[in-house]
Amino acid sequence: MSTITASQEHQVLEQVPKQLYIGGEWVDGNEGTLAVEDPATGEGLVDIADASVDDAKRALDAAVDAGPGFAAMAPRERGEILRRAFEAITARADELALLMTLEMGKPIAESKAEIAYGSEFLRWFSEQAVRIDGRYSVAPNGQGRLLTMKQPVGPCLLITPWNFPLAMGTRKIGPAIAAGCTMVVKPAQQTPLSMLMLAKILEEAGLPGGVLNLITASSASRTTGPLISDPRLRKLSFTGSTEVGRKLMEQASEQLLRLSMELGGNAPFIVFEDADVDAAVKGALIAKMRNIGEACTAANRFHVAAPVAEQFAEKLAEQMGSMKVGRGTEDGVEVGPLIDDTQRAKVAELVEDAVAKGARALVGGHARDGAGYFYDPTVLTDIPDDASLLREEIFGPVAPVKGFSDEDEAVAAANDTEFGLVAYLYTRDIKRALRVVERLETGMVGLNQGIVSNPAAPFGGIKQSGFGREGGYEGIEEYLETKYVAVNLD
Ligand code: NAP
Repeated sequence: MSTITASQEHQVLEQVPKQLYIGGEWVDGNEGTLAVEDPATGEGLVDIADASVDDAKRALDAAVDAGPGFAAMAPRERGEILRRAFEAITARADELALLMTLEMGKPIAESKAEIAYGSEFLRWFSEQAVRIDGRYSVAPNGQGRLLTMKQPVGPCLLITPWNFPLAMGTRKIGPAIAAGCTMVVKPAQQTPLSMLMLAKILEEAGLPGGVLNLITASSASRTTGPLISDPRLRKLSFTGSTEVGRKLMEQASEQLLRLSMELGGNAPFIVFEDADVDAAVKGALIAKMRNIGEACTAANRFHVAAPVAEQFAEKLAEQMGSMKVGRGTEDGVEVGPLIDDTQRAKVAELVEDAVAKGARALVGGHARDGAGYFYDPTVLTDIPDDASLLREEIFGPVAPVKGFSDEDEAVAAANDTEFGLVAYLYTRDIKRALRVVERLETGMVGLNQGIVSNPAAPFGGIKQSGFGREGGYEGIEEYLETKYVAVNLD
């Protein structure tokens, strides 16, 4: 990779629209502007529009006005818009990756991987737009016919987090457009730039004005609250923390909104004694270190069979300890900064709590001095049962390794959490694999692999990791209503 220059950084930042996108127009925010920061330096990158409550309401007005026209657009045409946007993102992958690294911090190679992953949702749903169908059947008593059809849900509010600035948007926007829904999108205030670029790309791809409206705001609750209680809104799709998800569900109950909730995780990573330990360490590195550990799917706890636990921990520590930490734009960097000081302080607190209760750091265990929010890759062993990091989402580059003695103990430990997003399992015994997969209380399982995300698969959790699925055949269903018609043939 060639070194990225300050002028290249300046150029990609210049291209980003800094305004709100409402009804097909780029407009200023009525609350002024808000600053977007580079987490690797703590310095400001650009200022963007700060929406007022009235701006947000205008965005919903535009979505409501555009609704019937967009629902009537030919599915093929909706698919073609998504396809063109996919092509445009692919063609501009390098500049979009740089932009993402600047606002979020992850290394360029990981940003490129997210651009490929995120844009693939647009391609996948461009193909699904023309596969929305219904049923025709004879009533069981032979009298009359039963007709079912799928229709767009209507105006949606899509709220996304900062950790995957593009993909968390395309997982919602792709199926919403394919289904014929209009929307108001509210990205996280820390990483709005990738989504602003996506809105511009969709506009250039021919998305009619008013279908996608984008608001950026310094106060999420102030701007989205009135939309959630507006009777014209039909659906809320949220990706973020379980804590905020709970609040939004409460608010959404007023209108009985359709909901999709992609919330927090606490993924167990289980390694049995029959596993290929080197393959497990390789998978563990991906499951733990992708996105600097700031992923809902990040392995949060490593449960390893006692006979191989020490070997696994040492090999993982060796690999994690040799990873290059630095600004994501620099050559060879594998671990960028955490998103902000609050996040880093939370990671440090969880490590300090575990160490104070008896855990031992094989590598790392410290925040880095200097600018930016860096935390050293850390492997902990001798984890006490009451360590907070066994129950809380770490969201950082910290891997606690804990031994287990048998299958029942491993499964019990894995399920001992309020979350249920994903689990990882390493074993070469196919019978054990299926037995354990069936007992794991999660929406997804990585079997002998450290990554599950795939646009063609249904992503989502159970328990307090939420409900609803993004991607796969299931993804578009979240944006469709089923209407049944009783047909009288007498
Ligand atoms: P967050 O604090 O819950 O914020 C997520 C989004 O909600 C942001 O756009 C935020 O806006 C907005 N928000 C916050 N409070 C709100 C309120 N009272 N009303 C309306 N909107 C509100 O989560 P985060 O820290 O950005 O993201 C990390 C979390 O997301 C982790 O728990 C992670 O596991 C989860 N996550 C889950 C998935 C999944 O698919 N299951 C995927 C990725 C991440 P502001 O930026 O303005 O605060």
